[in-house]
Amino acid sequence: MPLEITTTPTTTPRSDAEVAEILTAPGFGTYFTDHMYVVEWTPERGWHDARVEAYGPLSLDPATAVLHYAQEIFEGMKAYRHEDGSVWTFRAEENARRMATSSGRLALPVLPEEDFLAAVDALVAADERWVPPYGGSSGEASLYLRPFMFASEAFLGVRPSQHVTFMVIASPAGAYFKGGIKPLSLWLTEEYTRAGRGGMGAAKTGGNYASSLVAQQEASAHGCDQVVFLDGAEGKYVEELGGMNLYFLYADGRIVTPALGTILEGITRSAIIELAGKMGHPVEERPFGIDEWREGVASGEITEVFACGTAAVVTPVGTLHWDGGSVEGATEPGELTMAIREQLVGIQFGRVDDTFGWMR
Ligand code: PMP
Repeated sequence: MPLEITTTPTTTPRSDAEVAEILTAPGFGTYFTDHMYVVEWTPERGWHDARVEAYGPLSLDPATAVLHYAQEIFEGMKAYRHEDGSVWTFRAEENARRMATSSGRLALPVLPEEDFLAAVDALVAADERWVPPYGGSSGEASLYLRPFMFASEAFLGVRPSQHVTFMVIASPAGAYFKGGIKPLSLWLTEEYTRAGRGGMGAAKTGGNYASSLVAQQEASAHGCDQVVFLDGAEGKYVEELGGMNLYFLYADGRIVTPALGTILEGITRSAIIELAGKMGHPVEERPFGIDEWREGVASGEITEVFACGTAAVVTPVGTLHWDGGSVEGATEPGELTMAIREQLVGIQFGRVDDTFGWMR
């Protein structure tokens, strides 16, 4: 039985004029919509008290477990407005599935897929006017959705929380690239890793992002946009960026992406495997050596590198820097990179036929 959701509209919604003003330059993660979705879990009652209510601060006991032991998971997805005014999410079932996987790793209860989807749908319906207009803000603005689940029991013992809260909040997001699409410069960290054997690399949990911040600081200090992580065991294989997966395109038409295991299974990553296959470029998923990257780009065998994720969809990668060297990549976005990008963005905004059935 799906959970029944009670809706209590806010008594203090933002005015239409205020929302319109925010949507002209939403940035990322700064403004939040009028409502939020909340549901709670205990071992006795299971999931209960599902509701959409006014967005607002939470009151937490200082002993709330998540504040101490970081038993927390989250998702990131978007709602897109099409030209006819309708609003769609992209592969939301995959976010539900990945969150269930993250629940397993963090000893949190699983929210059934139908309730995850109903939660997202209910919030998008309540705050539909916050979905940016089609074609606004360089054509790629959307409503970012952040489902998350955390240990909400006030207890300092180290064990799985006996009270858990799942919420969805929403925040309008502008186009990732403001001044046109530019290749990212990357910093290869040889000091920090984000995952190890048996660790949490494949789960979307706050701790992974906490541990990536110092590496991102290192990247920024070297003038780079993003950080590249290598595997924790040998430091020989490319894993992913702090918040994006990687793809390597060869002159002979081959495409390679690092295999799953200790990386996050990106929903954009798996969409590209299907899409590129359909475009005649079967994707190899395998361990990808950092030396293959350096040597492949230097020799011209690798012609394009890109990163992918919900935030920027597909982002060309330029130069790779490390302590003591660099290999110069493209200064302009590559042809196949942009063709894949066009297809994906086109499906998301309803300009390209959704033959995969990805939009909801
Ligand atoms: N890797 C990491 C570490 C991420 O945080 C993200 C963003 N969720 C991705 C990859 C890309 O995943 P997705 O395509 O689902 O956004």
